[in-house]
Amino acid sequence: MPIYEYESVDSENTCEKCASRFEVIQALGEAPLTVCPECGGRIRKVISWCRAAVVETSPEHAKVEQQIREYEKQGMWSHAAELADTHSEKIKDRDLKMRALDDYEKAGYKAETLEKHISKDDE
Ligand SMILES: [Zn+2]
Repeated sequence: MPIYEYESVDSENTCEKCASRFEVIQALGEAPLTVCPECGGRIRKVISWCRAAVVETSPEHAKVEQQIREYEKQGMWSHAAELADTHSEKIKDRDLKMRALDDYEKAGYKAETLEKHISKDDE
């Protein structure tokens, strides 16, 4: 499931959560949030990471992708997750980060812990 980033629209009406940008994991196709889940203040979705087209075609990226796929095929989830995680940080690829999360979960890590880890990294 992808992570969406939100920010407050009404700076007068914020809580600790929405005073700065925050992230929400939502299912694909789920309607975007319009109000803060904490305080009900108005929020909007932010697109913060743009995937550069050059990244998609870089030979290094293709190689890493292939390696991740290979790990996944063999059920080496923690290997796949770590590689996807590291690489996603490097190229700022949110989709790959989500894939890392998926793989971490399959490897038996708790999604909740990872979520905290991610928002801490983004600060
Ligand atoms: Zn709020």
